[in-house]
Amino acid sequence: MARHCRFCEIVRNEAPASCVYEDDKVMAFLDIRPVSEGHTLVVPKKHYETIYDIPDEEVAYLFKIVRKVACAVKKSMKAEGIGIFQNNGKAAGQVVFHLHVHVIPRNERHKSCRPREECQPSRLDAVAYKIRQFI
Ligand code: 5GP
Ligand code: ZN
Repeated sequence: MARHCRFCEIVRNEAPASCVYEDDKVMAFLDIRPVSEGHTLVVPKKHYETIYDIPDEEVAYLFKIVRKVACAVKKSMKAEGIGIFQNNGKAAGQVVFHLHVHVIPRNERHKSCRPREECQPSRLDAVAYKIRQFI
């Protein structure tokens, strides 16, 4: 666990998050600045900075949960497609240095990127509740 890591704080329940899935190894919660409604982050509970650092078995398990979450996000958000991506290093756009996978609902109508705004916690909680019904 890293002391001043935002996602470690969420994992330890010291910072709030709209949780979609949790077990002993992995947690999934909504991104505070969603690209689209239902944008979820899937993280290993153990602190690894990037994909280079995590052992094979743990990354395999992480992606098993990414797939589970992607299916639930797709159904609950009625998304036509799901984008899955993951940034490693500042040059790749990583801003939170705790390994995480983005799961983003996509629809043909909303292909162009809109400016990202911080979402109200109550709105995020309502979306997380919807997704959890499909986990
Ligand atoms: P990165 O660019 O590192 O791949 O993505 C980091 C993501 O974490 C961003 O999409 C950002 O909106 C999200 N984020 C940053 N701080 C927080 C936070 O405190 N809570 C939540 N839920 N998401 C966060
Ligand atoms: Zn961390």
